[in-house]
Amino acid sequence: MYYEARTHEIIEVQNALQAAIRIKSGQLQTYQVMKWKSKDGKFFMYAVPDGHLDTMLLELAILRQKIDIVNSPYLQVESITNGWIKGAETLAKYLEEAESSTLIMKSNAQLIVGKPKGHERAWFTCGCCGNYFYGNVQEQQKFDQDAGYGICTNCHLW
Ligand SMILES: [Zn+2]
Repeated sequence: MYYEARTHEIIEVQNALQAAIRIKSGQLQTYQVMKWKSKDGKFFMYAVPDGHLDTMLLELAILRQKIDIVNSPYLQVESITNGWIKGAETLAKYLEEAESSTLIMKSNAQLIVGKPKGHERAWFTCGCCGNYFYGNVQEQQKFDQDAGYGICTNCHLW
């Protein structure tokens, strides 16, 4: 769930295969999220890079959002180890399966697009003392730490 502490940019594509091709192209920035519409037209799908530090594309969190409801929450339906998947077509199959997945891993996932508004909170590892803490994303951004890292209150006092 490292992605919840980061800010993202959305890139809209036609379908799961287009998303998979972009992800496998090596051209994707780690803050970029692929968005497409599910085949049945019910959901917006999001593939969010969720690995750690320099291996951000190793893991993908797959989120789903109902189209016909305004401000519908993000459901995390899948966590894909992209690093173990060979080609774009195989990855696309996993992405398509997530479109109709009945397993909900997280029913109110956070996806920050653009700048955080100030209310978003997420888990961080303190880059100074190693503590795991729940912090405010906007406040942590000024420390400019690597993905998933922040500075905890104790260390900030220094
Ligand atoms: Zn600390």
